[in-house]
Amino acid sequence: MPFTVAIVGRPNVGKSTLFNRLAGRKLALVDDQPGLTRDRREADVVLEGCPLTLIDTAGLESGDDGLTARMRLQTEAAIAQADLVLFIIDARVGVTAADEIFADLVRKAGKTVVLAANKSEGRSAEPGYYEAFSLGLGEPLAISAEHGLGIGDVTEAIAEAY
Ligand code: GDP
Ligand code: MG
Repeated sequence: MPFTVAIVGRPNVGKSTLFNRLAGRKLALVDDQPGLTRDRREADVVLEGCPLTLIDTAGLESGDDGLTARMRLQTEAAIAQADLVLFIIDARVGVTAADEIFADLVRKAGKTVVLAANKSEGRSAEPGYYEAFSLGLGEPLAISAEHGLGIGDVTEAIAEAY
């Protein structure tokens, strides 16, 4: 089993955009519609000289009970399989209830976590970046998957844990 990194977080935070950037190819569908990635995407990539498997997940979707069971199971399976969880929040929105549910799942799994506050390309992301500390998952990396900012910090953090 190669080293596995699962990109985890609620819908629309930019997981698939980050997956595509790290994979160097457009393998995952990116859309404004939350929860578009219904099926898991995987790519074998080499980051900082480290060969690894990258998994994109669908995240959580709002449903009657606040969770869509299938997506939650998919995410839990990806977390279980992962050696490292790349946990993404949207810094422009800040920490939401769904982010906290996810953070709990990740914490319970006891996996190494790299926390990234995405969409950090503008000043409006600053409050959300500081909120991310409250998740208790370590110091967040300020990144912009869309604009390619902070991606080297992500790959270095992955390589350190490898
Ligand atoms: P996912 O549901 O977590 O996989 O999120 P997607 O990757 O599909 O992205 C959701 C939306 O956020 C899309 O409209 C993306 O273009 C946008 N997005 C992703 N990364 C960034 C970013 O760094 N900055 C901004 N402003 N938008 C982003
Ligand atoms: Mg997606």
